[in-house]
Amino acid sequence: MRILISGASIAGPVLAYWLTRHGFSVTVVERAPALRKTGGHAVDLFRPAMNISQQMGLIARVEERATGTNRMTIHQEGARRPVRVNLSKIFNATSDRHLEIMRDDLSEIYYDATRDHVEYLFGDSITAISPDGEVQFERATPRRFNIVVGADGLHSNVRRLIFGEEPRFGAFIGAYFGVLTLPHAFGLDGELLMHVGVGRTAGMYGARHLDEARALLLFRSEHELDYHHHDVPRQKELLRGAFDGMHPEVDRWLDELDRTPAFYFDSITQVRMDTWSRGRVTLVGDAGYCPGPAVGGSTSLAVVGAYVLAGELARAGGDHQRAFPAYEHAMAGHVRGSHAAALSAAKTLIPASRLGVRGLAQGARLISALPARPRRALLRLASKSARLHNAMTLDDYSPSLPASAGRSDLAGC
Ligand SMILES: Cc1cc2nc3c(=O)[nH]c(=O)nc-3n(C[C@H](O)[C@H](O)[C@H](O)COP(=O)(O)OP(=O)(O)OC[C@H]3O[C@@H](n4cnc5c(N)ncnc54)[C@H](O)[C@@H]3O)c2cc1C
Repeated sequence: MRILISGASIAGPVLAYWLTRHGFSVTVVERAPALRKTGGHAVDLFRPAMNISQQMGLIARVEERATGTNRMTIHQEGARRPVRVNLSKIFNATSDRHLEIMRDDLSEIYYDATRDHVEYLFGDSITAISPDGEVQFERATPRRFNIVVGADGLHSNVRRLIFGEEPRFGAFIGAYFGVLTLPHAFGLDGELLMHVGVGRTAGMYGARHLDEARALLLFRSEHELDYHHHDVPRQKELLRGAFDGMHPEVDRWLDELDRTPAFYFDSITQVRMDTWSRGRVTLVGDAGYCPGPAVGGSTSLAVVGAYVLAGELARAGGDHQRAFPAYEHAMAGHVRGSHAAALSAAKTLIPASRLGVRGLAQGARLISALPARPRRALLRLASKSARLHNAMTLDDYSPSLPASAGRSDLAGC
């Protein structure tokens, strides 16, 4: 049975790994000419995704590539003194298993685990998928597949081809973000530096093994802004406008906008669909149910979704008519929860009022200053997102176990 996956970032290679472990033959088509190795931005792996990575035999490599960010300094706009926070204490209290890693490092680790058993077609893209599984590509000759999976991200090509144009499924949550790469000189050893004001938050961090730093700039906007997604000068202008006058340090980051080798700008949008499957095609990760980039949790959800989809396909012996509804059923609660958690994370991260700005800074300080037990208790109450992402329970789809195996300790441990 031949399965085609579009997208070789997180969901694509994880899905490819588990499908090959279950005995399927897998091809992955990736639009980029090669795997990106520039670091990208920092993403979170919560307990279920860590446990899946462990089952893949990759946990040592994942831990080795952790960003190592363990301190945070928060400057509140207009306040004189910054607030210093021990991030490790916060992470340890929210989760007994959480790790931050650059997305492209994680992608490379998953790709390396699959490259010998999976056919990768870089620099290509699907142009048409017929109901009988005949697939046309921009470059490769047409081929027939039993199943096609879109793991091609927020702006999924497969979703567009099968379900229609993006605006039908994208729910704007009232914020935008930009990411830019800064020279090493800006790099901070294990520290996340934040400036928080009403309706705008700017952060800068490095990773211990990277020669560059990243600035992440998030701002609220009640209405969708007028720009074209290829119009980079206009996007930079919007960022400059949104962060004008915030702080001289943020001005220095913005000065790099004209020199940065890597720039990304997008709205914070959730993908909301009634179903992710049609015929022999389904979606996984951000393509099907992105809770919103940069507000946390979507990487873990992509890993979990890929693991569950592969497992349900194996259980159904490759019968997509049985596997896809089971996959959607298994993921529905996790997706609903992640969407709700991302909305509340966005409200906290980009406060709408002065009270919210103070709440974010003082709350973080209070939590990191508390002794371990009350800190854990308070965070469990306050951090809906981490709680939810850690608590996901999954069936155990390990190939060595019989299909009827019960709930696993993958997430519940
Ligand atoms: C700035 C930023 C900050 C983020 N911060 C966090 C965070 O703190 N925590 C967190 O958990 N998540 C975060 N995310 C989200 C995280 O990056 C994604 O949730 C995660 O990468 C999803 O993986 P995916 O494989 O589903 O999609 P993606 O990582 O988007 O990968 C999609 C892949 O498909 C490829 N592709 C696209 N079009 C085509 C095509 N036509 N044909 C073939 N291939 C194609 C792309 O090149 C890419 O390789 C952030 C995202 C951004 C942009």
